[in-house]
Amino acid sequence: MRDQIVAGNWKMNKDLSQAENLVAEIQQQVNGQSVKADKVILAPPYVYLNYLTERLSGSNGLHVAAQNCHQELAGAYTGEISAAMLKSLAVEYVILGHSERREYFQESNELLARKVDTALDQGIIPIFCCGEPLSIRETDQQETFVNGQLTESLFHLPQESISQLIVAYEPIWAIGTGRTATAEQAQQMHASIRQHIAGKYGAQIANKIPILYGGSCKPSNASEIFAGADVDGGLIGGASLNADDFIAIANSL
Ligand code: PEP
Repeated sequence: MRDQIVAGNWKMNKDLSQAENLVAEIQQQVNGQSVKADKVILAPPYVYLNYLTERLSGSNGLHVAAQNCHQELAGAYTGEISAAMLKSLAVEYVILGHSERREYFQESNELLARKVDTALDQGIIPIFCCGEPLSIRETDQQETFVNGQLTESLFHLPQESISQLIVAYEPIWAIGTGRTATAEQAQQMHASIRQHIAGKYGAQIANKIPILYGGSCKPSNASEIFAGADVDGGLIGGASLNADDFIAIANSL
């Protein structure tokens, strides 16, 4: 069946020594017990990627993701990081389309389609984020809205590419707000996402793609949310900054 995955998005948090401590604690806990998640992915800020990939190489079940990459492979883009650079550091995954990137850096569905292509060309697996703002949820348009994000950013891909992806459903109104989607709302959206992918690529491909939930997920609510048949784990923000909470979530699958 599908991989059960927990990914921690550290965002712009932790200085170097704090990052070293967090990864050491996570590594110790993952090595010391068998964590229920098939894959535990850590997405630190860019500046710690090399440290993490070197430290975690050969570490069972622990993987590294970047939080973004540029759509071009190289060039005069001051301050940007390319998928080719990530590949050279042995980074396996990249989060693309996080709502904070969409909102604060004006990343459109069209731009994200290019980023997805560039990452896949470099052999890096996108963790593609989608999710609706509160105004859309309040008018019950969330399925149409999220389907549009998927169609515009992913549906140009051939079957063999889309089947490599991880999708993260993150309702914007639940990110960092302490307000979580109910288990029922999460399952309903995950089923809708899978159905939309199946409509284009067929059920066999859609059933292969892990769909993670993100939005104020914590040890106290993770088991209930992860119980949904189409919920294959979580993309965790705030709670991934604490090793005990993050591992507790990875054990809630
Ligand atoms: C996120 O930003 O991807 C996220 C899910 O954040 P939080 O868990 O803090 O809501």
